Amino acid sequence: MEIYLDHAATTYVDDRVKEAMDKYFSDEYGNPGSFNTVGLRAKNAMDESREKISKILNCTPQEIIFTGSGTESINLAIKGFVKANKSKGNHIITQKTEHEAVLETCKYLEKEEGFEVTYLDVDQYGLINLEELEKAITNETILVSVMYANNEIGTVQNIKEISEICRKHKVKFHTDACQAAGYLDIDVQNLGIDLMSLNGSKLYGPKGIGLLYLKKGTMLKPIIHGGGQEFGLRSGTENIPYIIGFAKALEIAQREKVTEITRLTNLRDYLINNILENIPKTFLNGHPSSRLPNNINITFLDVEGEAIMLMMNEYGICASSGSACTSKSLDPSHVILATGLPYEAAHGSIRFTLGKRTTKEGIDKLLKVLPGIIEYLRQVSPVNINMEDVKRK
Ligand SMILES: *Cc1c(COP(=O)(O)O)cnc(C)c1O
Repeated sequence: MEIYLDHAATTYVDDRVKEAMDKYFSDEYGNPGSFNTVGLRAKNAMDESREKISKILNCTPQEIIFTGSGTESINLAIKGFVKANKSKGNHIITQKTEHEAVLETCKYLEKEEGFEVTYLDVDQYGLINLEELEKAITNETILVSVMYANNEIGTVQNIKEISEICRKHKVKFHTDACQAAGYLDIDVQNLGIDLMSLNGSKLYGPKGIGLLYLKKGTMLKPIIHGGGQEFGLRSGTENIPYIIGFAKALEIAQREKVTEITRLTNLRDYLINNILENIPKTFLNGHPSSRLPNNINITFLDVEGEAIMLMMNEYGICASSGSACTSKSLDPSHVILATGLPYEAAHGSIRFTLGKRTTKEGIDKLLKVLPGIIEYLRQVSPVNINMEDVKRK
């Protein structure tokens, strides 16, 4: 079996989640919109899951809209909100290291719908500057969208401070919490959030299920029209087995996160320290402490991330050289570039993301082969960057 170190791309489905979902495929297959007994049982099961999730998020069940993915939740949050609120203003604020689901949605709104978007810079660790955020807010600003935790470099933003600034200026705040939900506090009251996007595939639930938390009283227009399911905001027959699985996965994540965070943080720091100490010309990307417990992102100078990945594949080690969605292109990641690493240096960046099946033995196997891989690739590399010349920003 491979050593899978790409949990930020997606996770396997937890066996307990699979078991909870199982009977909703062909035994309890009802359409929750049908008033026959089969449909009503499906509706009950869905209501129960919505209720369970609402307790975890500390909101009401009516504030949860199920969707088909994290991407869809984000599209609904941003497009749906700005279309419903455009009489109040046309300005959106986001930041440069967002996932493509946010960036491309904002670009679309700029190009096709006449909205204006500010993309805030981040510092060398990937954090936005709160004063810059406050300064960027104008009379036209209606929405701020800043992710909770970054999918590539693991940096965790100061969500509570951001929400306070938004509240002070009466601007609504959306956060993409797809990477955060498995590990961090997602109590929406405590965080002061108006809209929050989550998905199942990053927390040991099924792929192809997401949700949007929408604070009561927040205006939203649907982007998918039809039968009026999900309070009229997301039409289409609800995906009952996946909703059941998503709720189960969130419940398990919340229950087990304290022990798992400790275990993963130890493994994370063990791996980071070993690489930085034993392999020359390496940098850590992302924040040293305000980062996800399972994220390691390292730049190896003079080598291509893709080449490292391919060689690691030979040893059965699966990592990532950029987010899964963008790794088709050979440009360095927009996230690493936003932290100020020069173009030439940003190429050799590798992300290792740990998870439930990650063991110390697996990490040790990686640490055994990685120095040799880097050394070999540097021998055949035409570039030789001086470590002292690499300055962020
Ligand atoms: C995975 C991910 C998404 C997209 O979620 P899908 O369910 O794949 O559509 C959005 N934002 C972040 C931060 C992610 O990690």
